[in-house]
Amino acid sequence: MSDRTLIVGNWKMNLNTSEASVLLHRLEERIKAHQDIEVVLAPSTLVIQPLSLQIDRHKFRLAAQNAFFKDEGPFTGEVSFTQLRDLVHYVIIGHSERRLHFEESLGIVRDKVAASFRNDIIPILCVGETQSERRAGETRQVLHDQVTSALSNLTANEVEDMVIAYEPVWAISTFGGILAKPDEVKKEMDFIRHQVRELYGAKAAKRVRVLYGGSVDDQIVGGYLEIDGCDGVLVGAASLNYHKFAGIVDRAYHINRQPKEKPNEPDEK
Ligand code: PEP
Repeated sequence: MSDRTLIVGNWKMNLNTSEASVLLHRLEERIKAHQDIEVVLAPSTLVIQPLSLQIDRHKFRLAAQNAFFKDEGPFTGEVSFTQLRDLVHYVIIGHSERRLHFEESLGIVRDKVAASFRNDIIPILCVGETQSERRAGETRQVLHDQVTSALSNLTANEVEDMVIAYEPVWAISTFGGILAKPDEVKKEMDFIRHQVRELYGAKAAKRVRVLYGGSVDDQIVGGYLEIDGCDGVLVGAASLNYHKFAGIVDRAYHINRQPKEKPNEPDEK
């Protein structure tokens, strides 16, 4: 667990090796190291290794966008958490693009979270409802199922260390990009913490980092970062634009200069 604001850029399946190197270079020029902000870059698996040699570790950490839950073996085309463990600090797990395009089930996501901890990589678990689930009034059920299953078989200490990103699918730029209102986002983030509390107690609920993701850019990020209990943002499209991504970090820096409180949870169960 950390009190630093977490800003994660998900580059998705974009940029070849030299383009990724240029973007990293531009980001390093624009973004300063801030003690209270942690900036994480999630490039495609292909470029993690070369970027790990180039990256300024005072400014950035690396994340993978996905990994396979078995540690090694005959799984052609897959890359395991074990293979990534010395290269990345975080892995994004259960992103809606993986759940929807690659039919990742609740069980697969759960196994990936477990594999992540087994290999000393912190999972960034993505949860969120689709537009049709939202219209059908199923948001809470979906969040409950996604959080409960992904967190099964973990220890309270592991849950305290992990990151959960609330990403309503309808708000993600590639799935519609409808802007979610911060007060609505807050209710679902509170619900996620409530689920964690039910499963692992008040301490884990307080310490788990909860992010928001969905069409966040430098212009609107403030509305989400100011949500009480929001520990940061997961950024897709805007993370490929160094002006916008650096602007998001700048905004976080200025917001952190204002007093901010965590949700009012007691320290112990
Ligand atoms: C994402 O894919 O996790 C995401 C938040 O994307 P975008 O910022 O483009 O909506």
